[in-house]
Amino acid sequence: MNDANRPSHCSITKFSISNDELLIGGIPISHLAMRVGSTPFYAYDRKIMTEQVDLLRRQLPKEIQLHYAMKANPMPAVVQHLSKIVDGIDVASQKEMLVALDTGLAADNISFAGPGKSNSELTSAIAAGVVINVESARELNAIQTIGQTIGIKPKVALRINPNFELKGSSMKMGGGPKQFGIDAEKVPDILKEINPLHFEFEGFHIFSGSQNLRADSIADAQEKALDLAYELAPFAPTAIKSVNIGGGFGIPYFPGDLRLDTELIGQKLVEKIPETKKRLPSAKIIIELGRFLVGESGVYVCKILEKKISRGQIYLIVDGGLHHHLAATGNFGQILRKNFPVAVGNRMHSKQKEIVSVVGPLCTPLDLLADKMELAKAEEGDLVVIFQSGAYGFTASPHNFLSHPPPKEVLV
Ligand SMILES: *Cc1c(COP(=O)(O)O)cnc(C)c1O
Repeated sequence: MNDANRPSHCSITKFSISNDELLIGGIPISHLAMRVGSTPFYAYDRKIMTEQVDLLRRQLPKEIQLHYAMKANPMPAVVQHLSKIVDGIDVASQKEMLVALDTGLAADNISFAGPGKSNSELTSAIAAGVVINVESARELNAIQTIGQTIGIKPKVALRINPNFELKGSSMKMGGGPKQFGIDAEKVPDILKEINPLHFEFEGFHIFSGSQNLRADSIADAQEKALDLAYELAPFAPTAIKSVNIGGGFGIPYFPGDLRLDTELIGQKLVEKIPETKKRLPSAKIIIELGRFLVGESGVYVCKILEKKISRGQIYLIVDGGLHHHLAATGNFGQILRKNFPVAVGNRMHSKQKEIVSVVGPLCTPLDLLADKMELAKAEEGDLVVIFQSGAYGFTASPHNFLSHPPPKEVLV
């Protein structure tokens, strides 16, 4: 079968099937639903997260440190699991920082990024001893003042808005004008303001984009990030201790999406290591990933409340929807709505199929989880499963919209 014709759920192969039932963490979906006690729920399979980390450990050079960007999935149990197998955690709010610290990971290995950090967030981060990825000159001044006031030397890295883009990314977060980071051309002047008496200078953070499936584009951005770090290092007050070269590793969601060639990314990085060791001898090199580590481990499960036929079209009305899983309805930054991979979790081998739309209980046409998809012929009470739901699901959805109860979450 050529790649363009692969079924939309090429990605569901990460889960196995037994007796017609999808297994999550080895548990048949109907049993898992009973264990959780109610639908809808998110379930995350820890083994799949571990396998993603293992894959990168095999394919990337041993010098690369892996960080988990926890905004993708901040469930404390998930963060706890990942904290044991990655080298650090990147947080983007004070609350995320507290969850990361709860894991027991050393504060040195936690970094805090994001524009517009408040004085209260900065105080908390300085007191905790985490590395602050500084996003502006204003923030650097505030950090210095707070550090002096409370008598703790802040650890800072400069987040740089690079002079290049990550090509082929659906979400660009660097290059051109951006609210993130400090424009690369301003960095030499800002580095002059970092007095080692007042700061512990860590290095650079260069993040250019998200959800990219093109290994050549990612390798190109990583190379440019390292080149930029070489170029800026001579302006730094002390030796560079770390360079975070971003992430952006995508996962397949839609028909025709091919898995990212992480092996190629690894090979390109291997070529860059000797020069990096020469030019940044004391720097650790960090890659930060959210979605790639957790996205494929997660499913969102809801129950069919009603099967309704309107002028010949079949609707499966389920107890979950847009308020729990905004991304699956195509409303989380997507330009064109496409169906996530979906299946009837208790009829995985069913030969009887029909074209249906899966909709939620919200009184809006936006509440569409699957649009005219071929699924196993289903009945009321069956479990609909949405794959690729481990990242930007639960916390990236407007739970209060229409005032239905929130979903549950389990790690298995
Ligand atoms: C959101 C974010 C990430 C994670 O992006 P993924 O696509 O989930 O890997 C990493 N770094 C920064 C700075 C981010 O803002």
